[in-house]
Amino acid sequence: MSDRQEQLERLRDELKERLERYRAHRQRADGAVDKDMEDQPLQTRDDEVVASLEAEAEEELSQVRHALARTREGQGDICERCGEVIDAGRLGAVPYATLCRDCSAA
Ligand SMILES: [Zn+2]
Repeated sequence: MSDRQEQLERLRDELKERLERYRAHRQRADGAVDKDMEDQPLQTRDDEVVASLEAEAEEELSQVRHALARTREGQGDICERCGEVIDAGRLGAVPYATLCRDCSAA
């Protein structure tokens, strides 16, 4: 298994956990305050912020899954638009990138 695939799988698991926390937060929104959550930064955020974080995490998760699928096919570092190799620096910064810098800017 490549390092990148490992990195993506870790990222996917993190995102899944994050989404579960956001969903749990939302379900609690109309209930009583949960004392166990007092130490969590989420507690101080309002529901609107949580909802937008949740949407962001969902978006990121689907991109991570997409990148994982491409990595498994051996296409993980190939831009899906122009077919050029995505440079390692970009993949280091954005492990779930499936477009090269030029294409993602276009
Ligand atoms: Zn490209």
